[in-house]
Amino acid sequence: MINETIGKLGFGLMRLPKNGEEIDVEQTKRMVDLFMDAGFNYFDTAWAYEGSEEAIRKALVERYPRDSFYIASKHAGWIAGKEGDEALKLLDESLERAGLEYFDFYLIHNAGEWRTGYFDRNDLWSWALEQKQASKFKHLGFSAHATAEELEQLLTDHPEMEFVQLQLNYADWENPVIQSRRCYEVARKHNIPIIVMEPVKGGMLATPPASVEKEFHDFAPELSCASWAVRFAADLEGVMCVLSGMSNVEQMEDNLSYMKGFTGFTEEERAVLAKAREELDKIDLISCTACDYCAKVCPVNVAISRTMYAINCYRLYENLESARHQENLGTALYGKKFARECIKCGKCEEVCTQHLKIREHLQEAVDLFGSGAPEEK
Ligand code: SF4
Ligand code: SF4
Repeated sequence: MINETIGKLGFGLMRLPKNGEEIDVEQTKRMVDLFMDAGFNYFDTAWAYEGSEEAIRKALVERYPRDSFYIASKHAGWIAGKEGDEALKLLDESLERAGLEYFDFYLIHNAGEWRTGYFDRNDLWSWALEQKQASKFKHLGFSAHATAEELEQLLTDHPEMEFVQLQLNYADWENPVIQSRRCYEVARKHNIPIIVMEPVKGGMLATPPASVEKEFHDFAPELSCASWAVRFAADLEGVMCVLSGMSNVEQMEDNLSYMKGFTGFTEEERAVLAKAREELDKIDLISCTACDYCAKVCPVNVAISRTMYAINCYRLYENLESARHQENLGTALYGKKFARECIKCGKCEEVCTQHLKIREHLQEAVDLFGSGAPEEK
């Protein structure tokens, strides 16, 4: 049972401002001050967010009383290939980097697919409970980029989880790959508090297609497009906190301007959002339903449906970096291959339920994204 007073807006620390290769700690401090002054208090870091735990130590932990903020970190030993005793050290490393004796929230980072097997193999679920009993953190949960079925299984297998972190956004609400609505409904069925990640879809919904932007601006020209995405998530029942991965003071100020005092959408605002979604639906996209029949026959294990999703992201938002990130997620998270490794055997097209020219789309991905960005996790 989580009985804490958490602000609805959380500061996601994955995309902190940078000076060259280094995190810009001075700007981070200004962002932290604005955030705290506005009455918000939840910070989300992770062992895997390079430099983030150290940065928040300097910008927050060493400057504010311990009882004035909540801080979450996450265990993702699968990223670093840590097994056995090595895997168990990650929590202590995170605490040391952040300069803390305990975290308020701790997460199994990105369960689902083969990654669940990693946590099972190292029995990190029971280990995490022991660490909670040893007061290394107060609340245990997990994050997931999972299908609704996987999420159902995880929540059924792990009733000890106190909260779940999900990617929910209005654009992916009905998307067959991301399954935002279905995952939300599973979490609600299990009556578990939800923390929302990626409400702005890695920044893509800050600059949506022109027709969508028009709906928003016609209604309220003073509000940013990102505000609709963040408030959509905050408006959902059962959501404890919405994380926004802010990268500069301007983004922080924008987020605070509409989240401070936000108590929910009006019916009029919900209607605007529904119209914006209708506009999104009109855009010509690859009609992949993520049924993954193709995945069962591909001899190379290409991340076909995820690649289709990445191409669609590009068609919608024309943001190459963010779309490439989606392609990388498809390979890194699911242990699959990039489009460039397709041998063009055509087996996938024989079984495609939507009769798609998969090979042509994969070539489109190679032309768009190149060989993928290996630095992505
Ligand atoms: S054409 Fe490419 S993606 Fe399709 S089954 Fe063959 S290797 Fe896999
Ligand atoms: S079989 Fe076709 S529709 Fe189904 S996931 Fe593959 S590409 Fe998409």
